[in-house]
Amino acid sequence: MPRWEQRWHPLREEWVVIAAHRQDRPWHGERLGEASLAQAPPDYVADCFFCPGNARVSGARNPDYRDVFVFDNDHPCVGQDASRELEPPVGVFTNRPATGLARVVCYSPKHNVTLAELDVAEVERVLLTLREQYDELGSRPDVNHVLIFENKGEVVGVSNPHPHCQIYATNFVFKTIETEARASRKYFDETGRALFQDILRSEHEDGRRIIFENSSAVAFLPYFARYAYECYVAPKATHAGLAGLSASELRDLAEALRALLVRYDNLWRMPFPYVMALHQAPTDRADYPGFHFHIECHPPLRKPNLLKYLAGPEIGGGNFLSDTLPEEKASELKNVPDVHYKAAHA
Ligand SMILES: [Zn+2]
Ligand SMILES: [Zn+2]
Repeated sequence: MPRWEQRWHPLREEWVVIAAHRQDRPWHGERLGEASLAQAPPDYVADCFFCPGNARVSGARNPDYRDVFVFDNDHPCVGQDASRELEPPVGVFTNRPATGLARVVCYSPKHNVTLAELDVAEVERVLLTLREQYDELGSRPDVNHVLIFENKGEVVGVSNPHPHCQIYATNFVFKTIETEARASRKYFDETGRALFQDILRSEHEDGRRIIFENSSAVAFLPYFARYAYECYVAPKATHAGLAGLSASELRDLAEALRALLVRYDNLWRMPFPYVMALHQAPTDRADYPGFHFHIECHPPLRKPNLLKYLAGPEIGGGNFLSDTLPEEKASELKNVPDVHYKAAHA
């Protein structure tokens, strides 16, 4: 029986349309990962711009780094020297200058690993580095928001597999963050509670979509997921950003994030593509009551070779249409092994 349902996405303030066809079975196909294990790339690649000791596009040479490595993006999409003297548009149109800094964070000197293959201490060091970056960039008067994200996999347009994420520190706040901040503030004003706390409470009450949890962090596939395997990872306590987490909360968060990413890779025994974003409060020195820092993962695949295309409903109509039921996808993720398939092989 096809199932039609609308679910409210309280953080985005929009409806998600669920149109799930129950005959869709979980994947039991060939083990893609094993074929690719044989032809796995080496841990150092001479012409990789991100490997230690190599020259980058700009001509700058990477140090012989052993840990996490941060550098200014050689192809920034936002630039510090962007013009502030804009030509005023005609009529009803409006513009404003877009400025900012862009950086790249390499998770590891090893070319052939993914975040999921790092151990908890290494993931924790990545998060510590991201926290330093957020603090440093966010404290600049010309930076109102720091967006940290990872694009993983060729299907989301990544040409260099060297494990890395990107930082855009901008004079503007990205729309999703603005919407989440507005929704959280409204909810806080009305109820005195953090919206995300009530989402976590409801997820716990239902229980079916919790993928992993430890004492202070949780990973879950939300009730209102737009993508089949969309998941959130968050501290249980409300903090506006990474900066508020204690040492043990940061470690728990690293463990929860890693637990989710391992399950992603194990699902089809292949490096699982996704867009991951850290949603932290803006750094424009305004107050953000009720804003609860979280990490969102948006995997574009519904099946190993089946991309979720944004089409009529999403692009034409502006609402997501999900062809899968969040409860079923969460149960798939819960039921895969929690040891990475490559490590299990070794
Ligand atoms: Zn590399
Ligand atoms: Zn978010």
